[in-house]
Amino acid sequence: MISIVTPVYNEEDNVVYFHDEVTRVMKEVGMDYEILYVNDGSTDDTEKKLRMLAASDPHVRALSFARNFGHQIAITCGMDFADGDAVITMDGDLQHPPALIPTLIRKWQEGWDIVQAIRTATEDAGLVKRCTSAGYYAFINAISENHIRPGGSDFRLMDRRAILTFRRFREHSRFVRGIIGSMGYKQTTVEYVAPARHAGVSKYSMRKMLHLAMDGILTNSTVPLRMIFYVGLLSLVFGFLLILYVLGSWALGSTVPGWTTMTILLSLFGSLQLMGLGITGEYISRIFRETQNRPLYWLSGDTADDPESPYRRARDD
Ligand code: UDP
Ligand code: MG
Repeated sequence: MISIVTPVYNEEDNVVYFHDEVTRVMKEVGMDYEILYVNDGSTDDTEKKLRMLAASDPHVRALSFARNFGHQIAITCGMDFADGDAVITMDGDLQHPPALIPTLIRKWQEGWDIVQAIRTATEDAGLVKRCTSAGYYAFINAISENHIRPGGSDFRLMDRRAILTFRRFREHSRFVRGIIGSMGYKQTTVEYVAPARHAGVSKYSMRKMLHLAMDGILTNSTVPLRMIFYVGLLSLVFGFLLILYVLGSWALGSTVPGWTTMTILLSLFGSLQLMGLGITGEYISRIFRETQNRPLYWLSGDTADDPESPYRRARDD
């Protein structure tokens, strides 16, 4: 069975149209499926429409949050509850074209565990959005251990095995595409052009967007923290060179009184303070990793490590 997971937040003008489109595509695919909507605390008629869909279509399951928890939490919830052998996450505003679903499924049938849809362009995205997005991905890739593809969205298919592993990541601040990028497994990509939103405006406010960008950097990398030590070390090297110069000038007698001592103290203590901060940073980065409490390891292939795993059950009996 295929699970389609879709977070919706105030999408009253999109859900029914989205539902019809996905249903049409899934009928063509001809496999058993469920569409799992996660209503992220909508304040419009989204909930009513979901109840209506659930009442009329046995393929529909709808969950409603008590309040708005944000897109990343909503897709996490959907992945927690999805029962499919493969789970597809996609937005409910039709910017993730349902027409791509058969391609994702085909790649999965070819043996890929994670099929990431990569947006090559967005029809209504302005130059500013395109540039900030490109700059952001360049930066995050420079400082994090795992490569995150530019244009990556939360439109992807995951095999149940990868979903079970994903469920073991319970960190609160989360950047789902960063977690999945670091998960390994057999990953591939397919490209698509994102059309403009079907109806309504973006539900990602500037604040939410900045928050996500921050989470992306901070949850994936402790490099900014660890850089402090190396900056301190570098400044110490320059400090020593400066001290040599200052002492030389002093020996030649061409200095103002006090300048020599001042410069030596400044360059020495400035660097030592930075290095001290850097050492604190090393501890903090370790505390951070511990509090994230990510799984220590996960297995590939049929030796899936989750006791709930159907693969494991199949192997045991
Ligand atoms: N969304 C959500 N909770 C939020 C914001 C957005 O569940 O707090 C959903 C939204 O309904 C849509 C998807 O996440 O299905 C992507 O949001 P949107 O299209 O507004 O983002 P954009 O495409 O502008 O980046
Ligand atoms: Mg959108």
